[in-house]
Amino acid sequence: MRDSALSELLKALTSCLGAANVLLDNNVGERYASDWSEAVALPPKAVLRPSSTEQLSDVMAICHDHAQPIVVQGGLTGLAGGATPQAGEISISLERMRGIEMLDEAGMTMTAWAGTTLQELQEAALEVDLYLPLDLAARGSCNIGGNVATNAGGTEVIRYGMARALVLGLEVVLADGTVISSLNTLVKNNSGFDLKQLFIGSEGTLGIITRVVLRLQPRLLSTHTALCGLPDYPAVLALLNNLKRDFGAGMTGFEVMWDNYYRSVIQQTPGATSPFQSEYPFYVLIEYKENAPVAAAARFESVLCEQLEKGVMIDALIAQSSQDAAKFWQIRDGIGTLLKQLGPVSNQDVSLPIALIGEFAQELETLLKERYANLEILYFGHLGDNNMHAVAYTGRIEDTSPIGEDIMQMIGRYGGAVTAEHGIGVLKKKYLSLSRTDNEIALMKRLKQALDPHDILNRGRVI
Ligand code: FAD
Repeated sequence: MRDSALSELLKALTSCLGAANVLLDNNVGERYASDWSEAVALPPKAVLRPSSTEQLSDVMAICHDHAQPIVVQGGLTGLAGGATPQAGEISISLERMRGIEMLDEAGMTMTAWAGTTLQELQEAALEVDLYLPLDLAARGSCNIGGNVATNAGGTEVIRYGMARALVLGLEVVLADGTVISSLNTLVKNNSGFDLKQLFIGSEGTLGIITRVVLRLQPRLLSTHTALCGLPDYPAVLALLNNLKRDFGAGMTGFEVMWDNYYRSVIQQTPGATSPFQSEYPFYVLIEYKENAPVAAAARFESVLCEQLEKGVMIDALIAQSSQDAAKFWQIRDGIGTLLKQLGPVSNQDVSLPIALIGEFAQELETLLKERYANLEILYFGHLGDNNMHAVAYTGRIEDTSPIGEDIMQMIGRYGGAVTAEHGIGVLKKKYLSLSRTDNEIALMKRLKQALDPHDILNRGRVI
C-alpha cells in the first residue's frame, strides 16, 4: 500500500477508534508480534483495539474498502501461527472486548465477550455452582473467542466434547463489517442453517467472533483419580471400552502415557516421582467425576479391581487425596517442563483411528530411527478422543522439519488428522490435503471467497 493510502486508512481508523486505540510504531511492541507457536515473529503495521461490536464493524468496513489484510488476535496462546502477523497486516486485538454479559443460572448458559479469558469464565461459573467444561493449560491467557475460533479441546473432551459442543450462539463480524448476531440460547433450534458452525474452528478466516453463548453444566462434587500400569496397547483399548461401559458419562479423563514418555518425565522433571515399584509398558491416568462422593468412591474402586482381576491392568493406584491426584497429573502434565529441556523437537498433535494408534506409534518409531541418528520419540495423549501427541528429537535443529514432514505423511497414510486440537494456522497449511479431500478444500475456498471476497481476514491461514 502506498504511504498516502496507508495514512488515509490510519486516519479513518483513528477517527473511528480514537488515537489511544490505534497503536503504531514503538507502541506496538513485542506483545502483538507472535503467538506461542514457532512461526516467525513480526510486529503488525498497527494494532486496533475496538471496544464494541459496532466499532469493530466500522473498522472492518474501512479495512474491506481499502482491501487491508488484518490478523485477528485473542490471547495469543495459539500453537499454529494463526495469530502471528504476516507482512503488511494490521492486527485487531479483542483485548478490550471482555467481560461476562449474562449468566443465566436457570437456563445454565453464559454470554461473554470474545476477549474474556477462559479462566475468568470458569471461575464465574463455579461461583454459582455451575461448571464450564473446557480446560487447557493456557486458561489464564487464552480468550474464549480464540478457544471457539480454534475449536479448542483439552482434558475433558471424552465427556463434554470440544469447544464446538459447548457453544449455543455467536455474534460475528464479517470481513465487510456485517454483524451476524446469532446469540441463540436454546439447546434445540433447527430454524434454518446453524450458522455458528461456520465460524467455530475456522481460525478467524471467515469472521471475527465478538460474543459467545456457552452451555454450562452442573458442578460435580467428587473427583476420583487413579494411575494404572498396563502390559500392552490392546490392553489400553480394552480398558478404555470397559471403563466407558462401567463409568458411562462419569469418566472425564483417560490419559495414556507410553513408557518412554513416563520415564523421561520421572527422570527429568523436578519433583516428579513414580508411585509404582515396577515399570510398565503403558500408564493410564483415569479421572471419574460424580455427584455422590461415597458411593462413587466405592464404585470407582470396585470397577478398577475388576479390571485388575481380569488382567487388563497389571497395577493400579487410587489417589487418596487431592495431593495424590495432583502428583499423578504432574506426570501427565510434565510435558511442559520436559519441552524446555529436550532442545529442538518436532512436537505433533495428531488424531488417529483409535484401534491403529499402537501400530502407528511402533511403525513411526521404526521409520524415524532408520532415518535419523540418535532419534528419541515420546508418545502420550488424551486417546479416549483419538488424540495423540508425538514429540521426536535428535538434538539437531535441522532434523525437526523433516521429522515433522515424515510424521505428517504417515498420518495421511493412516487416515488420521494432521492436527487434533491446535489447528492448521500457517504451520500445517501445506499438510491440509493429507487429511481433507480436494473437494472439501475447494468448498472451504468457496466459502472463504463468499464471505471475504478481498481475502483480508487472516489471509494465508488454513487454506
Ligand atoms: P490466539 O492465539 O490469539 O488465536 C488463535 C487463532 O484464532 C488465530 O488464528 C486467531 O486469528 C484466531 N482468533 C482469535 N480470536 C478470535 C476471534 N475472536 N474471532 C475469530 N478468530 C479469532 N489447545 C487445545 O485445543 N487444547 C489444549 O489442551 C491446549 N493446551 C495448550 C497449552 C498451552 C501451554 C498453550 C500455550 C496452548 C495450548 N493450546 C491448547 C493452544 C491454544 O491455547 C488454543 O488454541 C486457544 O484456544 C487459543 O486461544 P487464544 O485466545 O490464545 O487465541
